[in-house]
Amino acid sequence: MKVAIIGGGASGLIASIIAKRQGFDVVIIEKQDRIGKKILATGNGRCNMTNLKLLADNFHTSYKGNHFLPIEIINLEKTLEFFKDLGIIPYVENNKVFPLSKQASSVLDVLMLEINRLNIDTLLNSKVINLIKKGQHFEIDLVKEDKKEKLIIDKVIVASGGQAGVHSDLTIYNMLKDLGHEVLPINPSLVQIISSSNYCKTIKGIRVDCEVSIYRNNVCEKKEFGEVLFTEDGLSGPAIFQISRVASICKKNDESCYVKLDLHPEFNKEQLIQIIYERIDKNPTNSLEQLFIGWINKKIATVIIKNSNVGNINRLCNELEYEEIERLVNSIKSLRFDIVGTRGFKFAQTTIGGISLDDVNLETMESKVLKGLYITGEILDVDGDCGGYNLQWAWSTGYIAGKIR
Ligand SMILES: Cc1cc2nc3c(=O)[nH]c(=O)nc-3n(C[C@H](O)[C@H](O)[C@H](O)COP(=O)(O)OP(=O)(O)OC[C@H]3O[C@@H](n4cnc5c(N)ncnc54)[C@H](O)[C@@H]3O)c2cc1C
Repeated sequence: MKVAIIGGGASGLIASIIAKRQGFDVVIIEKQDRIGKKILATGNGRCNMTNLKLLADNFHTSYKGNHFLPIEIINLEKTLEFFKDLGIIPYVENNKVFPLSKQASSVLDVLMLEINRLNIDTLLNSKVINLIKKGQHFEIDLVKEDKKEKLIIDKVIVASGGQAGVHSDLTIYNMLKDLGHEVLPINPSLVQIISSSNYCKTIKGIRVDCEVSIYRNNVCEKKEFGEVLFTEDGLSGPAIFQISRVASICKKNDESCYVKLDLHPEFNKEQLIQIIYERIDKNPTNSLEQLFIGWINKKIATVIIKNSNVGNINRLCNELEYEEIERLVNSIKSLRFDIVGTRGFKFAQTTIGGISLDDVNLETMESKVLKGLYITGEILDVDGDCGGYNLQWAWSTGYIAGKIR
């Protein structure tokens, strides 16, 4: 029985190995000049392949059923066992799992070694443009180096990925839609967010560890603690990536959105007021700007002073009234950035939305619309948090589909 896998990314590669090990005749069809290119870019070149804490809440979808089922079936242990057998020794940092070599290329290398050992066919530079079912078989139209070709196949696994990253296009989404699948609106996630607050430019390039809260229509939707990087037009960094799906959804729905940074979550307001009074007592002739030296980054301190409406940075700090100190503390604990959207798919790590899980049997990953067709990975309506969750979704769904049940 011949199985074609559309897309040689994380999900397609694992699916190809499992299918071939079951005895199927497998061909991977990949539009790029090599398979697994995106894996090399994951985890900043280290490949954060999964996470020790896999919870349903780390995976987001519009589906109302148990979207976590694929991860329950091919769980952390089974995933790690698969990779350990291929030679990957896991290395854990804050629950995030990487290969001990700390090289994303190791993950791709072991998959390719197994693909070569199993003699799996690979068609490179081959873009699938259409798929139809004729009787018991599928006909796949592809373009290989400007020439059209047709493949006759028994089973098809679609693992063509989402829209995040540089080489994405909508061909397969449209193809699956034409075949009768519902495609839920797609938006970028795990991406930088864009702010209209004019002080971004002043503090661009600075990194801080802080607590980030994102507000949708004035209600706090999510809080994260971690590193934030200020950019020319907004905010980036791991903590921002984790809350970026809220910004993306607000933009889509035209809802108000802002982020508040607590630069000192370890202190309450009273403690911070106390700290400021102690600093004023020790150096009463310091200016407002000098009050923060050695404590808060100078450029951020300028923004805090400006936002608090306490006068010029050169004003003497011992002139501050209690209410003015309170305002400074409020700025330190809730530095606000108005959010107008996110950067585009090219800069994102994953895709919100995609093929509805209502159209897929999550025990097998087979389409409920077209028998013999399986759909896996990021093209489905699931986006994971930052921390190895998106690859785990790709591994689990690909592994299950590869069993061809
Ligand atoms: C920069 C970056 C860093 C990331 N880091 C991490 C990380 O550390 N941990 C984590 O969990 N997730 C990470 N992700 C997300 C993760 O890489 C993806 O969610 C995952 O690779 C999705 O796997 P996939 O197989 O579904 O799709 P992909 O890996 O995107 O593979 C799809 C493949 O299909 C091919 N294809 C598409 N259309 C066609 C067609 N018409 N014909 C033939 N071939 C086609 C594509 O060229 C591609 O090779 C990162 C993403 C990016 C962009």
